[in-house]
Amino acid sequence: MDRRSFTLGSMGLAASLAAPLPALSQTSYKGPNVILVRFGGGVRRAETIDEAATWAPYLRHTLAPRGTFIPDLRIDKLEGVNTSHAEGTLNLLTGRYLAYRELSAVFNDRLEPTEPTLFEYLRRAFDIPSHQVLLVNGEDRPQEEFFTVGTGDHYGIEFRSEMLSLHRYKLYRTKMQLAEGKLPEDRLLQIQAEREELLAKDARGATPDPSPEVEAFWARWRQAYGDTGLKNPRGDRLLTELSVRAMAELKPRFLMVNYQDPDYVHWGNPSHYTRAIAIIDEGLQRLVAAADADPFYRDNTVFVITPDCGRDANPLADVPFQHHFNSRSAHETWAVIFGPGIGRGVIDRPVDQSAIAPTIAAAMGFRADRAEGIAIEGAFL
Ligand SMILES: [Zn+2]
Repeated sequence: MDRRSFTLGSMGLAASLAAPLPALSQTSYKGPNVILVRFGGGVRRAETIDEAATWAPYLRHTLAPRGTFIPDLRIDKLEGVNTSHAEGTLNLLTGRYLAYRELSAVFNDRLEPTEPTLFEYLRRAFDIPSHQVLLVNGEDRPQEEFFTVGTGDHYGIEFRSEMLSLHRYKLYRTKMQLAEGKLPEDRLLQIQAEREELLAKDARGATPDPSPEVEAFWARWRQAYGDTGLKNPRGDRLLTELSVRAMAELKPRFLMVNYQDPDYVHWGNPSHYTRAIAIIDEGLQRLVAAADADPFYRDNTVFVITPDCGRDANPLADVPFQHHFNSRSAHETWAVIFGPGIGRGVIDRPVDQSAIAPTIAAAMGFRADRAEGIAIEGAFL
């Protein structure tokens, strides 16, 4: 029995059954802030980190030399590991493979973590309020609303992060519109129906209300962008806008940005894919500029940029870049890590994707003790 099947087996289960419920930490946090950017929707190395062919020149030519560049991050080829978005994201957040279960028999992409996520480890170790541990999600992936907290008897909802997404904003807006009652009756009935539809997207039923700080964030967002949904940026540009505003207003210690739009290539047009990569690259410029300009983040923030999964490289398929065929290039990703305490250089050996979570844990000064991987040797000064 190898190390992995051993930890996945009976010992892990016994440990989790025996673990007492942890208490909220009283320890104040003094470490660096971390911004984890999921360069998501699945991207290949060819269009992102290839020096000549990249569609993300800022990532490749400015950010990679600023810290540790890992050109050969890999998703392990294990039985049952699917190279996809929810799976890859949970690998990043738990430092394990297959640490999830399906939430719904109807929506097979709705996974919830069965092991602690970085959000929970961080809030167990340090006294950080939930609005300073944030996940920024896209609108059309309500399945990613479930990543903030694991299930089972460990950690739990007290340790969750909070979530910013258009889905969450619509929950706020409909709640306010109904409470204000200023609109005509037929319009209020429509809003009631819209709200019920939004609530039905969360298969777990009621999730905790946002904190007062996040409610206030949405109140300001509503003032800026109104109720029509027509003024705010769309797609991954929206995620950048939410993130930059959140940095200014909520000052998250740990922020994860779940970019996703390169995935639209599933529906056919390769130029959507390369354009989406370029839009994430612009988003990175805004995030890094915002961090460099803000005394709370400047010289005190570690960026970790890495995809959820790769994509296939099959020139014979109708759409050459899917990612569900378990091909080699769907397992091939990369990472760029920079900030205080992080060395500069290229790690020219393969690194496993399960190393990302323990690396972030090491940078922030806590242990992801259920992670299978270990912090990346050579990334730290
Ligand atoms: Zn996909």
